[in-house]
Amino acid sequence: MEQRFITDLSIKPIVVFVVDDQMMVIEAVRRMLSSESDIEFHYSTDPTKAVEMAIHVKPTVILLDLVMPDIDGMTLVRFFHQNKKTQDIPIIVLSSIETPIDKGAAFSAGASDYIVKLPDKIELIARVRAHSRSYLNKLERDAAFSELHKLKAELEESNNALQLLSCLDGLTGIANRRRFDEFMLNEWKRAVRENSTITLIMIDIDYFKAYNDNYGHQKGDETLKAVVSALKEGINRPADLLARYGGEEFVIVLPDTTMDGGLQLAKASMRHVELLALPHAHSEVSSHVTISVGIACCEPELRHNTVESLIEAADQALYEAKAKGRNQTVVSTVCKGRCQLK
Ligand code: GH3
Ligand code: MG
Ligand code: MG
Repeated sequence: MEQRFITDLSIKPIVVFVVDDQMMVIEAVRRMLSSESDIEFHYSTDPTKAVEMAIHVKPTVILLDLVMPDIDGMTLVRFFHQNKKTQDIPIIVLSSIETPIDKGAAFSAGASDYIVKLPDKIELIARVRAHSRSYLNKLERDAAFSELHKLKAELEESNNALQLLSCLDGLTGIANRRRFDEFMLNEWKRAVRENSTITLIMIDIDYFKAYNDNYGHQKGDETLKAVVSALKEGINRPADLLARYGGEEFVIVLPDTTMDGGLQLAKASMRHVELLALPHAHSEVSSHVTISVGIACCEPELRHNTVESLIEAADQALYEAKAKGRNQTVVSTVCKGRCQLK
């Protein structure tokens, strides 16, 4: 619905729209209202064009003759009410007859008021003002409400964006440590419920301090991003999560996955990083950037198993990969039962 947002009612004109086939009546009403500087006056002698004209002049109150050729006033009241742009405008019926039946019919058709013409000037002005004010108040309420609605939607949208941002790592755009912790806990609970396994892969870039020291921090940042894109390539299931665990260390959580699946992805990750062929003249293990990987798997329903113990096992495996010379994957030996490598 078209609305006007009125903040100060006192400076807004009241707009009166008279529909009457008799010019004499229109002129009489116009004269009565002419002393009021804040009242704007419009009229129509053609009831067939009344709705269209009302949409154009945007009255705050309509004065409507009851008996007219072509369309009678009662039908016109219904037309005003059926149109979205005019449906709330108060209608004062101007009638030359004052019988309870006519009054009742006018009110039940949707009229707001009923005046026998020609009314007293003071009474007419008072009614015009009262109905216009209540209409303007309604417009103001509606506008404030829809503004509130809009602001609420905007707030929700920015909250969602903030929520998303608070879960992402600023440099690489993947999940951050916070998101990883939250995700891990949820997947842990799910695995307990579904009696499934979780595999965790921990990845660390080899000799990255030397890389930064020699190529500069900015180049280091670019390489971190490139490694992330390589790691992403191996991840095919939407349920898996790649996160930045810290610095140049990454984790991949594989829900409902065994050690075999984890090992496959670990090897693919190493291969994809190798394919980047990023020169690293200061690595002691290769002429290019490489990663070391540790994998652990667990069945969360087992006693004494915790999220921390799974992370610890993967971390230990990664430590071994480093100790054994880097650029390799080590599978945790603490994993038992279903979690062992087949
Ligand atoms: P290792 O092979 O044993 O993993 O040795 P390393 O040098 O990779 O490991 P270390 O933990 O000694 O150094 C990690 C380096 O990673 C330290 C820092 O220069 C670099 N680093 C960590 N976070 C960032 C980052 O956000 N941007 C850049 N450019 N470098 C980072
Ligand atoms: Mg490192
Ligand atoms: Mg490290």
